[in-house]
Amino acid sequence: MRRWNGWGKENFEYNLEDSAFDYIAEKVGKGNVLNDVELEDVVKKVPESRLLKHNLILTDAKERITHSTGQSFADWVMFKGGGYDQFTDGVSYPENEDEVKQIIKFAKENKVSLIPYGGGTSVTGHLSPEKSKTANLTVDMSRMNRMLSINKENFTAVFEAGIKGPDLEAALRAEGFTLGHYPQSFEYASLGGWVAARSAGHFSMGYGRIERLLQACKIETPEGSYKILEFPASAAGPDIKELILGSEGRLGIITKCTVRIIPLPKKEIFKGAFFKDEKNAKKAVKEISQNGISLTMMRLSYEKETANMLALNGESLSLTLLNKYLKFRGFSINKSMLLYGIVGDKSTTKSVLKRADRVIKKYGGIIVGETPGKHWHKKRFDLPYLRNTLWDKGYGIDTLETAIPWDMVDMTISDVEKSITNSFETIGEKVSIFTHLSHIYKTGSSVYTSYIFELGKSHKETLDKWLKVKEAVSEAIVKNKGTISHQHGVGKDHLPFLEAEKGSLGIKTIENILKTFDPDGIMNPGKLVK
Ligand SMILES: Cc1cc2nc3c(=O)[nH]c(=O)nc-3n(C[C@H](O)[C@H](O)[C@H](O)COP(=O)(O)OP(=O)(O)OC[C@H]3O[C@@H](n4cnc5c(N)ncnc54)[C@H](O)[C@@H]3O)c2cc1C
Repeated sequence: MRRWNGWGKENFEYNLEDSAFDYIAEKVGKGNVLNDVELEDVVKKVPESRLLKHNLILTDAKERITHSTGQSFADWVMFKGGGYDQFTDGVSYPENEDEVKQIIKFAKENKVSLIPYGGGTSVTGHLSPEKSKTANLTVDMSRMNRMLSINKENFTAVFEAGIKGPDLEAALRAEGFTLGHYPQSFEYASLGGWVAARSAGHFSMGYGRIERLLQACKIETPEGSYKILEFPASAAGPDIKELILGSEGRLGIITKCTVRIIPLPKKEIFKGAFFKDEKNAKKAVKEISQNGISLTMMRLSYEKETANMLALNGESLSLTLLNKYLKFRGFSINKSMLLYGIVGDKSTTKSVLKRADRVIKKYGGIIVGETPGKHWHKKRFDLPYLRNTLWDKGYGIDTLETAIPWDMVDMTISDVEKSITNSFETIGEKVSIFTHLSHIYKTGSSVYTSYIFELGKSHKETLDKWLKVKEAVSEAIVKNKGTISHQHGVGKDHLPFLEAEKGSLGIKTIENILKTFDPDGIMNPGKLVK
């Protein structure tokens, strides 16, 4: 069963060894374990629903609680501490397009706001109901979860939008195909959510982000159904599909998507390399990308992240041996780890890896074989469970991300990290910050920074700490002209910073488009733009 107040399934734990906790305590302090609320305590706080009765709407308290948040840090504080701003008034689980239309009709007639809900994995406040005089209704798409067709000649497949990552891949794999879209939230995130929040999977260098994988879709809006037709490409004016991508539930409810698929690759190889310093490591990944060496993934952990990963992974025999080997080769504690991989046929993977290895060696990298890469691949969806483990010991962890041209990468990392450090220094606390580059592009890279800190003495104090960091980092990103989101979307949390990126005319354009599809503003108000 899925945790109601944390990440993932209840019967899975991300266990850390004592040495890992000692490491964290040394970096940030001993942790503040909070008294979290029980589900039954929250149930008592849920007010009566303001919705009229309808056969497609559930109003029981547990449904409403579990659909009133996503997975942002603010959401975590809400479900851990019970300080909900607002509960959704009801939840609907449509099973087909006709039911989606009935819900939209009901919402229009009764001035109800609709919040489309895919897998509930949003980390930017996309799913919180607005405090409003009128009722909110969350539309959970999880029962629209079928593969409708597959066209092996065209390399396309049609899915209902509520299908989750594992079910989608299983359906395709059974037919010898794959989509290759793996955000770290893969276990729970849905196809509709990927499209609506413009997600990027860790194989984006090879398969592309969701915008490259989406061929067509259908959306039910307050102004009626709208269908993007299937073309491999089109020069027929502006692409309306681009408006649905990243629409964050504000245009309507995406019901079906046609995605571009490829036959299952014959080979998958993931390798690891270490660099003595992050400057040379960065040069290597940039050169690999700019020379068109078509790897499927690269993840370059800067020095602090490498140290963290090695420390949190404990003293396993293979790690101890690896460390001994690197020491023997003259590597100090400060080293950067590159994970890189390719999927494809035998001869291509071999030749691409050969070219990549050459660049890595040119910049002083030491290739350590497949062990770290295999470990990463096996455990890649486990890491989010660390959030549960750390919270229970009195620590918070959150991530921040942007994408930026190459000539601004160093400055942005430095400013982002400084802004986090300063936020904690002003309250006399320590913080552990670590960064990696992934989603490497020819013209720049995404920058992904994580930080671990002691929870506050209360849930409220914890939220205040986090809000300060979020604001300071968002300002640092905007100042360096990075995007306010490379992959997590805008939601509520990034909304105040969107105008810096789009300009006032851009925001007006988005607002006008929303009005065209949703004149009464009932679709997910308060997200993306005001
Ligand atoms: C641990 C963790 C790891 C993550 N890793 C990544 C990552 O690697 N890459 C990445 O890109 N993101 C990542 N995310 C963020 C998140 O998973 C993505 O934004 C994802 O695309 C959201 O999908 P979802 O189905 O959960 O959507 P939800 O969270 O349910 O909704 C997100 C937004 O999409 C809208 N929406 C959902 N379904 C529909 C629909 N059918 N029609 C219209 N609107 C809809 C919602 O209204 C909301 O505005 C991560 C999140 C977590 C918690």
